Amino acid sequence: MLDMNQIVGSHDIVLLTLDTLRFDVAQRELAQGNLPVLSRYISAWQPRHSPGSFTYAAHHAIFAGFFPTEIDNPAAPRLMAVDFNGSRTIDPRTRVFNEANIVAGLAQAGYFTLCIGGVGFFNKKTPLGMTLPGLFQQSYWAENTGVTDPASTFNQIEMAKQLLDQQQGQKAFLFINVSAIHQPNYFYQYSNKQPDDIESHGAALRYVDSQLANLFDYFKQRRNTLFILCSDHGTCYGEQGYVGHRLAHNNVWTVPYAEFIQRAVVE
Ligand SMILES: [Zn+2]
Repeated sequence: MLDMNQIVGSHDIVLLTLDTLRFDVAQRELAQGNLPVLSRYISAWQPRHSPGSFTYAAHHAIFAGFFPTEIDNPAAPRLMAVDFNGSRTIDPRTRVFNEANIVAGLAQAGYFTLCIGGVGFFNKKTPLGMTLPGLFQQSYWAENTGVTDPASTFNQIEMAKQLLDQQQGQKAFLFINVSAIHQPNYFYQYSNKQPDDIESHGAALRYVDSQLANLFDYFKQRRNTLFILCSDHGTCYGEQGYVGHRLAHNNVWTVPYAEFIQRAVVE
């Protein structure tokens, strides 16, 4: 396990939630060599259990330090946590904050905190859509970073780079809720056929992968960076009669997880 007491304060931290990504599709695409950018960093996804079955629930837990749980070891120590009496998943490598969530904790530790949405819970259009973005010092959403724009990931990363360029001297906690894999995703298939299905789900992930080098290369020029990539929940395409998420099904609660450090290029 990483020692987060060494990382917080010295590294940039990037959290990407690949919204709605299913574990089985993520692992299949990686194993088949369809994710050339991510393959430079990971050889497999860890299967984990999400703390929630839909975006709002899962992100509240994640921002409180409850990242998806190791399936074989649910009591594994957590990377980051907020002070909570009796927690058995905190050890000396866990960075424990006194604030109510890790976003506020990282801000208190000197980080510039930035949220780029995302699906509807990050669209800032209503008080509910402000709740999660409101945890951050700066938060942004636009139609072209939302679920309906086929270039959403490109737009999200470009927006993040532009905003981080203004904070070069400060360590950053960047959160992007990657919206591309969330429905609708049919337009990532060459055939463009509707409705969404497990094949267009995979095609959307391949699109996301094609954009990530732009983000990884950017941080290589900034400083050493911890990347955490996970899904917030999966989704069903008719298995056992279930469609969508916000329901209890293996395809919803099992999510892919990865974490890795990228070293900065020393000039
Ligand atoms: Zn979600």
